[in-house]
Amino acid sequence: MAECLAPVRAKGMEKIMKIAYTIKEVREQVKAWRKEGLTVGLVPTMGYLHEGHASLMKKAVEENDRVVTSVFLNPTQFGPSEDLEAYPRDFEQDCRLCDSLGVSMVFHPEPEEMYAPDFCTWVNMEVLSSTLCGKSRSTHFRGVCTVVSKLFNIVTPDRAYFGQKDAQQLAIIRRMVRDLNMDIEIVGCPIVREEDGLAKSSRNTYLNEEERKAALVLSQSIFLGEKMVKEGETDAAKIKAAMTARIESEPLARIDYVEIVDGLSMQPVDTMQSPALAAIAVYIGKTRLIDNFII
Ligand code: AMP
Repeated sequence: MAECLAPVRAKGMEKIMKIAYTIKEVREQVKAWRKEGLTVGLVPTMGYLHEGHASLMKKAVEENDRVVTSVFLNPTQFGPSEDLEAYPRDFEQDCRLCDSLGVSMVFHPEPEEMYAPDFCTWVNMEVLSSTLCGKSRSTHFRGVCTVVSKLFNIVTPDRAYFGQKDAQQLAIIRRMVRDLNMDIEIVGCPIVREEDGLAKSSRNTYLNEEERKAALVLSQSIFLGEKMVKEGETDAAKIKAAMTARIESEPLARIDYVEIVDGLSMQPVDTMQSPALAAIAVYIGKTRLIDNFII
């Protein structure tokens, strides 16, 4: 795959976006930028990019002299029975989008470039990864923290951009950066939704027509919870019960979790007070989707 992809150039753009496949290439490029005194932003992704990813890249381009987007389907954050093999990919389209947004470099390593055969060093977070997605995906955040640490070490960005869509991931990355004294500003970006409310996700592509309609139950449940909070409800149990009932009204939906947690520790709370996070994970058929809102 690597050879067939020449650097892409969007119409009217003078700058050619670089595509790096090796850690060495990234390091050399970033070193050259640093020599010029330029700031660097990083947007880590797993590819099959959509407008949610684009919103992160746009913000990164606004706030940094150079932006690196990593497109890496990280195997270590998938469990053995999860969708690593089926995960959608379209690297050429991803490059076109990155280029059109003014990204300077796409980093697209093979798994072997990131993980030596005898790789055995992990970044493992306690407490925050014990709830929500960490409960049903036991090694997920170990994979996330490890690959993000590696990307931070390779790119050495001034700022890194993450979506609120993955609220637990964002909280975990913020905590990791604090706990391990990484000198990187973490920028959180709001959830981008389809017109009908469904949060944009690469995994939405798994849904057939009937499931796509049923998937609306996630955002409907989120909007219902938000409305209750706006109207003054502070009892987490009541909000949780209403959100659960809304999801259960959809026959194709199967709840993984509906939780209200503290936005920093990710531990359950009884009262819906800032900084609280209401988060859901729901299977629509075989597809597991997530959504949330924060106070
Ligand atoms: P992924 O490729 O799914 O690992 O996502 C890469 C980054 O894009 C993560 O920081 C996600 O939180 C973010 N992201 C994915 N979908 C959305 C969305 N709908 N709105 C905002 N950010 C998103």
